[in-house]
This record gives sequence, structure tokens and C-alpha cells, in this order.
Amino acid sequence: MEALKADDVWRRYGSQEVLKGLDLSLASGAFEALMGPSGCGKSTFLHLAAGLLAADRGAIEIGGVDVVGMRDAVAAKFRRRHVGVVFQAFNLLNEKSVEDNIALPLMLDGMRLSSPKVRGRVDALMGELGISALARKRPEELSGGEQQRVAIARALVAEPDIVLADEPTGNLDSASAKGICSLLRGVNRGGKTAILLVTHDPQVAACADRVHFLRDGRIAASIDARGDAARISQFYLETYR
Ligand code: ADP
Ligand code: MG
Repeated sequence: MEALKADDVWRRYGSQEVLKGLDLSLASGAFEALMGPSGCGKSTFLHLAAGLLAADRGAIEIGGVDVVGMRDAVAAKFRRRHVGVVFQAFNLLNEKSVEDNIALPLMLDGMRLSSPKVRGRVDALMGELGISALARKRPEELSGGEQQRVAIARALVAEPDIVLADEPTGNLDSASAKGICSLLRGVNRGGKTAILLVTHDPQVAACADRVHFLRDGRIAASIDARGDAARISQFYLETYR
């Protein structure tokens, strides 16, 4: 079964058609990237797939479950259990500590940070992301790169079936971006968690197994180019020139 299956997805804002019959599918456990210039609709697609925005037409299934027709409350619960979202603008809660932000998807499902399972999971993620020392701080006290790591930890905490990550390295220097890539590779390695990574950085896209190029509201091309940032760059230039 596919982790994600988008079939003929359309979405407009006012008179602007952003997505125009987009088809995309990710096998379970796949690690793929979505590229395209600013404004081409990458974030719009991500929000549709996360069930946060309604499509005008078409179908999107996550693990075989239709998210387009889902009611808000059902979508929120489904998302907490099955989908990890790293938002481009982080969407952290400023009145809560870093560790509370990370644990939030589990706490909303009735678990407590003080339970050994949640505590262990949050501590392990903070360790992997190098943010353990920030546990009691609040997001507004952190740099952009640090907030990004918190957002990534929160997306991973519930061990989702798929992670949708919107420019998760956008605020990081290239060394830190590499670190996020290897972290995502590690998350993906077990084959249980699929990842869709939105980025416009060929170096980052190269950590995925396959790259899709979004143009004119559809996937214009897809290539298998893991590790080959030069080829992705070249393809990017050809696709958008
Ligand atoms: P990307 O993530 O690829 O940069 P987006 O999906 O954010 O692109 O945006 C695609 C297009 O839709 C852009 O032209 C943007 O201005 C427009 N858009 C996005 N969100 C909204 C919104 N809430 N209202 C109106 N237009 C929007
Ligand atoms: Mg975007």
C-alpha cells in the first residue's frame, strides 16, 4: 500500500490555479523529495496531504485513508497518529517549553511527558537533534535553526507512517543541513516511515532516493538521483529555464 497517493489534485486561490491535476505517489517507506521554485505550490500540496487544507478536486490518500474528505477533528487525530508535519514556518507554541512542544502530539492523545515512554522518546530525539540543553527554553528564545530542530523532533515524536517536511533545512547552514539529512535517513532506514521532503536545495534533495519536480501545477518529471546533487541541479535548471 502507498504511504501517499495523490490523484488528479486541483487547488486554486481566488483566480490563481496553483495545483492543476497533480499526481504523486510514494510507496510505504519511500524517501522522496519535491522540488520547484518559490510559489509553485509545494507548501500548498503539503498542506493538502496533511489534511490541513481542502482540495478543490481530486483524491489524496495517506496509508489508504482518504484525507480530502476528512472532517477537521478526525483529520487532526489522524494526523497526530500517522503524519508528522514539519511546517515551513515551524508553528511552535511560544507559551510552551521546547520539550512540551516536542511531546505535544502525544500529549494531545492523552499521554504525559512524565511517563517514562514519552520522556524517553523526547529525550532521545532532543539528543539526536542536539537540542537537549534547550529543553526548558521557549521557542521565541531560540534561533531559527534551533526552532527548526524542535519542529523536526515534534514531527517525529509519534513515530508517524509518513513525514511531510516543508523546507526543513531552510534556516540551517550546510553542515547542519547535512545533519538533518542523515537524521531523516536514519528515521527512514527501518522502512516504516516514508518521507516527503520539500526543498529547493539540490544538496538536500540528494539525500532522498527520488526527486519530483513540480511545474505548472503538476509533477513535470521525476528522477532517481540519490547522492547526485549535480545531476539534480542540472535537471532543475532544465526543468525551470
Ligand atoms: P511554494 O511552497 O512552492 O513556495 P506555495 O504553495 O506556498 O508555494 O504557494 C503557491 C502559490 O499560491 C503562490 O503564488 C502563493 O502566493 C499562493 N498562495 C499560497 N497560499 C495562499 C493563500 N492562503 N492565499 C492566497 N494565495 C496563496
Ligand atoms: Mg513553501
